[in-house]
Amino acid sequence: INFMIEPIQKLTHMSTQFQEGVTGFQRFMEIINLKPSIENKPNAVTMQDVRGDIRFKHVSFRYEDHLDDVLENMSLQVLPGEYVALIGPSGAGKTTLCSLIPRFYDVTDGEVLLDGINVRDLDLESLRKTIGIVQQDVYLFAGTVMENIRYGNPAASDEDIIAAAKHANAHNFIMSLPNGYHSCIGQRGVMLSGGQKQRLSIARVFLKNPPVLIFDEATSALDNESESIVKESLELLAKGRTTLVIAHRLSTIRNAERIIVLTKDGIVEQGSHDELIARGGAYANLYSKQFELHV
Ligand code: ADP
Ligand code: MG
Repeated sequence: INFMIEPIQKLTHMSTQFQEGVTGFQRFMEIINLKPSIENKPNAVTMQDVRGDIRFKHVSFRYEDHLDDVLENMSLQVLPGEYVALIGPSGAGKTTLCSLIPRFYDVTDGEVLLDGINVRDLDLESLRKTIGIVQQDVYLFAGTVMENIRYGNPAASDEDIIAAAKHANAHNFIMSLPNGYHSCIGQRGVMLSGGQKQRLSIARVFLKNPPVLIFDEATSALDNESESIVKESLELLAKGRTTLVIAHRLSTIRNAERIIVLTKDGIVEQGSHDELIARGGAYANLYSKQFELHV
């Protein structure tokens, strides 16, 4: 697939209509129009002042051409401003669940609602503007640091970009690059560490300023030191926004207002850390295992 990377980057560079969080490949598919199934309805609704109330009502989901449901009759509500951690074994459907909110896929059954409105009735571009995604793989294109951050909001001024980078703990490392914000990223440009890329991705989301956030294993691949810097900016970003965090490390999710344990059987447990520990079930079990490994 390598031979495709360069044209994808060029195409994406030209296009500003795609929002952070769609993978390069998904963008490519959308640009060359191989995936027309997710479309705006006629008279799609553009929402103003989204509060960030997310609701899954009896949602089932199966990938096209697959036999098994990844999610089956799943119901869940996340309140405006709530900080919820989603944990569970690999393959349980955590990423899939989150990808239904920006409508990267449509549900097979049931409905996903944002502030009480079915996401299928919302204008796609406006829906995706309300959601900021930080994931393990950060999508950066060949261009300057400034251009890469501006991707979060094409209308942003240089001052806005610098402010966003400061919030994301990225300003200092950017200033230490040979050409600061005008340093080029990519094959002929500067090399960035995983943690630095994450901080650019977080700066983009600060700039975008969405009411809803999804962090999908954003810090999983980082060493402990970069993890704690990135975690700090993620926590700052999450203030006042509805946040869904998918995480492996229990240290990252301990402080969540609510922890949801998702397995192949669906949501098997939810509650605060203390409640789930007291319960002595799946979460308590996972927690004691990690505790043995890391202490
Ligand atoms: P998690 O994020 O909890 O590890 P995923 O949501 O990535 O789980 O995956 C749930 C299930 O769906 C897995 O069995 C996975 O193999 C399958 N799956 C994920 N993405 C796709 C896809 N694009 N097409 C088909 N199956 C997929
Ligand atoms: Mg996943």
